[in-house]
Formats: sequence, structure tokens, C-alpha cells
Amino acid sequence: MKLYFYYGVMSSSKTANALMKKFNFEENGRTVALLKPSIDTRYGKTTVKSRAGLSSEAFLVGDNEKIEDVIGRDNSFEIIVADEAQFFTEAQIDELRKFTDQGTMVMCYGLRSDYTGHLFVGSRRLLELADTIREIPSMCAKCGRKAVMNARYSGKNIIYEGNPIDIGGEDKYTTLCHQCWKSGKL
Ligand SMILES: [Zn+2]
Repeated sequence: MKLYFYYGVMSSSKTANALMKKFNFEENGRTVALLKPSIDTRYGKTTVKSRAGLSSEAFLVGDNEKIEDVIGRDNSFEIIVADEAQFFTEAQIDELRKFTDQGTMVMCYGLRSDYTGHLFVGSRRLLELADTIREIPSMCAKCGRKAVMNARYSGKNIIYEGNPIDIGGEDKYTTLCHQCWKSGKL
């Protein structure tokens, strides 16, 4: 079966797309596992919500865990849908690729690059291994051209350095075209 990677910047309705895929497959009687990587040691179940109001329970995969230990060794699912796939480790993406060879369709949704402008580890592995790679487009918050950068900012200043997976703190994020991102100012 195929491995799909749908990528986009933040707020490009990737989560809503992932949840709609899951619901559509389930309406057609298919068994679907929704996965979400944990960027820390948390594991178990979580709820994935989209801003459009969709939500579903998901398996939370810790960064040291094998996915087969989370969803069950026998992997009884016909389809796996993964949200925030950029945060999977290389080993976990390799494991998803193995599942496709064993008959499970895998659809991953995630960011391409971090706010410093570099690929996330999981996204790099997906670009290397996916059968089908599609962009989910969205617009630059400043000028309306296509957004390709996830910009981190503080006040009116765009930040280019720091821990790429530091998603807390008081800094905020927006999505910009490359030219607006390079300008340094919002
Ligand atoms: Zn722009």
C-alpha cells in the first residue's frame, strides 16, 4: 500500500483534512487508527481537535516508543492517519513505511520545516520515503502570496534561532511567504 505525505504550514487545515479522511474511511466500513506523536514522554490516548470543530480520539506515540507497541502487534488497522507527523522519529517513519509493505495504507499530515527554515526530522524521512507527496497550500498572513515559512515572532520581530520544537513560551507563530519572512518584521 501507499505512504502519503501531505504537508503545509501551520494553520493550513492539515488536522481538519486528517480527521475528515478518517471519518470518510470509517463511513465506508474501513478500520482506521489515528496517531499523534508526543514530543515528550507522554503516551496513551489523546484527543485531536481541528479548529473547524472536528475531533477524534487518537493514539499518542512517545518518542521512544515503537508504533506497533501502541496500536497492537497484530496491526489490525487497514488505514493509519497521522497528525503532526513532523514530530515522528526517523525510526517511527521507517516503521510506518514497513506497515505499508504489509498492507496498511498510511496517510501522514505535517509541517515541512520549522521556524528556522529547516526540515523536521519526521518530514525529512517522509520526503525520502513517501509514494505520494502533496502540498496543502495557504496564504502569507502579510501579503497574500503562497505561505511557505512558519514564522516565529516576538513583538514585531521575526525570530530565526532557538530550539525548533519549543512550542511554548510567549512567542507566537504565523505563516509567511519567504520574502516577508526574510524581512525580519511583521
Ligand atoms: Zn508575504
